[in-house]
Amino acid sequence: MKSQIILKPGKEKSIKLGHPWIFSGAIQRAQNAEQAGATVDVCDHKGQFLARAYYNSKSSLAARIFSRQPGQELDQAFLERQIRAALARRPALRPGVQTMHRVVASEADFLPGLIVDQYAGHLVFQILTAGMELQREAILETLKKIFDPEVLIERSDEAIRSKEGLSERKEILIGRPEDVRTVGHENGMALTVDCWEGHKTGFYLDQRLARQLVESYAQGAEVLNCFSYTGGFSIAAKRGGARRVISVDESKAALDILAGNWQQNPGNDDCQMENVRADVFAYLRQLREQGARFDLIVMDPPKFVSDRAHIDRACRGYKDLNLLAMQLLREGGLLATFSCSGLISRDLFQKVVFGASVDAGVDMQILHQLSQADDHPLLLSFPESLYLKGLLGRKVSLS
Ligand code: SAH
Repeated sequence: MKSQIILKPGKEKSIKLGHPWIFSGAIQRAQNAEQAGATVDVCDHKGQFLARAYYNSKSSLAARIFSRQPGQELDQAFLERQIRAALARRPALRPGVQTMHRVVASEADFLPGLIVDQYAGHLVFQILTAGMELQREAILETLKKIFDPEVLIERSDEAIRSKEGLSERKEILIGRPEDVRTVGHENGMALTVDCWEGHKTGFYLDQRLARQLVESYAQGAEVLNCFSYTGGFSIAAKRGGARRVISVDESKAALDILAGNWQQNPGNDDCQMENVRADVFAYLRQLREQGARFDLIVMDPPKFVSDRAHIDRACRGYKDLNLLAMQLLREGGLLATFSCSGLISRDLFQKVVFGASVDAGVDMQILHQLSQADDHPLLLSFPESLYLKGLLGRKVSLS
């Protein structure tokens, strides 16, 4: 008996437009697809073939399309072809300049549920779905074959796996426990990445372009980098000629790496480094009470919301942070502010930042609309692949 899922009438429309997701409510019935992650034909209600997908009845996001070719298997040959194609779409790495990037960005690279990041000779991957989990051995073999990595690490330790009925997994597949750190280059900055303890796969690669922009505006500036993590924006500001950089994060491990990153990126050595371990919300209030002022503030908080029911609360958080930042800016100062919550649209984010500016009694000239770096592409047919939004604005007084 054929493995297939039959969609309800009308539910084929988004599939025909290229969208890779099928929610359980769109499925009329599934046939011979009991194993979580089993590959299936996706058919419309008349039984017409639409695409190849993997299916997991445990998840409300029940199926993800990996191919539109009839009969295509999700096997090692397919994985190799897709990963090589994704790699070929990335600009070549350049020693000393750019040695880290995202190679496979899940759905946006037509490999739903798989993320592969390269940090110099280190390769880190994440499996997020049952469909990809079934291919784990094939993924391992393929990554070894294509990249021949010095160190290969699996960071499938994302809580989101539970939605697929999967537990978290973290494993060093090639290399020794003492080798989990490496130094990667981004825009010429040498940055230590901890592929084992670091967030995500070790580093926030998606902010590469924004960091470059911040560097270009940092000359002579007193900079406040909120949610600094290991200091990508802080080092960029230093290189850009900042006078002083205060980095704030709650993670000691991140700030320790930041201090090392500062040392391993010499130049502009008069720039003052202050690393503050604190809750950003509380610290900003403290700065406001002290009457502190800055020329450039970076506000890059973690994801605030992963569930529609909490969008309002997340917006209040963003508004609070941006209001405080605007109050701390000098006249003419710059704010680079971000939201990586996929559920918050660009429009909504801009409205929230506007609300903050109204409450702060200032106006902001938006100089740049920012987004995730180009190794995290946005697929037009899959708008959910856009998650990182940002604005770089200048504080100007209402006249
Ligand atoms: N801008 C960073 C990435 C930020 S990720 C970069 O360019 O790499 C978000 C960071 O916020 C994490 O390092 C996390 O430790 C920190 N964090 C989360 N909540 C926080 C809070 N309330 N106060 C301070 N830091 C926080």
